[in-house]
Amino acid sequence: MEDNIFLKIIRKEVPKDFIYEDDEILAFYDIHPLAPVHVLIIPKKPIINIATMEDEDAVLVGKMFLIARNIARDLNISEKGYKLLIRVGRDGGQEVPHLHLHLIGGVRLGDNIRPE
Ligand code: AMP
Repeated sequence: MEDNIFLKIIRKEVPKDFIYEDDEILAFYDIHPLAPVHVLIIPKKPIINIATMEDEDAVLVGKMFLIARNIARDLNISEKGYKLLIRVGRDGGQEVPHLHLHLIGGVRLGDNIRPE
């Protein structure tokens, strides 16, 4: 697998404040936030995207959603709501080839988050 910025963040080669970390998952603020709350939740395992994940990664991917839920609660946006987004591949607009779940909120969101 080719190197990318998220793999560097996982290896702690790039300084980054984590808002969540365990042995499998990391979460940090997006460097170009699209809303007042914009967090990325990523697995430490090198998975490119949902299209390439293995069936055995299902529990790990499910855990990413639970962590997003918990972060949303901690940031007090659960009640008003938020958007969870995973881009897949070129047509999905995925820029970083490492699986990541966007947690976006803190404002009323329309349909278009970074359209082409
Ligand atoms: P995507 O377009 O779904 O692949 O999303 C990639 C996201 O990663 C974008 O929202 C970028 O702003 C974000 N991003 C890229 N580099 C960094 C970085 N060093 N730290 C935090 N977020 C980043």
